[in-house]
Amino acid sequence: MLQIHQIPVLSDNYIYLIHDPVSQDSAVVDPAVSEPVLAALAERGWRLTHILNTHHHGDHVGGNLELKARTGCTIVGAKKDRHRIPGIDVTVGEGDTFRFGTAEARLVEVPGHTLGHIAYWFAESDALFCGDTLFAMGCGRLFEGTAEQMWHSLMKLKALPGNARVFCAHEYTEANGRFALVVEPDNQALIARMEVVVERRRQGRPTVPSSMAEEWATNPFLRSDQPALKRAVGMENRTPADVFSELRRRKDRF
Ligand code: ZN
Ligand code: FE
Repeated sequence: MLQIHQIPVLSDNYIYLIHDPVSQDSAVVDPAVSEPVLAALAERGWRLTHILNTHHHGDHVGGNLELKARTGCTIVGAKKDRHRIPGIDVTVGEGDTFRFGTAEARLVEVPGHTLGHIAYWFAESDALFCGDTLFAMGCGRLFEGTAEQMWHSLMKLKALPGNARVFCAHEYTEANGRFALVVEPDNQALIARMEVVVERRRQGRPTVPSSMAEEWATNPFLRSDQPALKRAVGMENRTPADVFSELRRRKDRF
């Protein structure tokens, strides 16, 4: 089982340190900045062997070059993003497996937020690192891809087990939940989850990771194919991709 340490940085980003206790390898997922990562490594006596990037945005790769210069680590990223991920060494794509110490991740291409966006699924550790594709009760904005592409990407993540832990890259949960409640005011699971989320944030604690099962029940974007959600937005006869597209538009204006 991998050890996972969450580092909050900037205004709402999460960086994840993952450590394989058997091989002693350590990776960092989406290092927005380098200093807090170096400090967390030093505190634990961990040696950085890999950087895993989900996509090329600055708040996900900002620490790449400094960390590589300081530790000699290997940078892993999407084949499709090899021209725009700083310092990239190893390129991966759909269905590839990435060996990390004694652990293994399956790569899932999830275009939509950006065209080269990928997610890392460590099945044995129930850990999904999905960057800015799936958020707690939300999803990323469509900067490069279409709604159709993003819906297809979310369906791939939705197919993972319910106990998958969703390690997304931003603490957007409370704002996402407020939108979700406007969409589905009668969703009891959503109402209950928001009470917990609001209380956690009041205490300054993270609401991430969540579980895939929680997202199935409360994330409006993942629920674009559910009759209850379609009814709630008055789109019973439309395709899930159409419903998703409309939800994304509404959220952009929310
Ligand atoms: Zn992004
Ligand atoms: Fe981001």
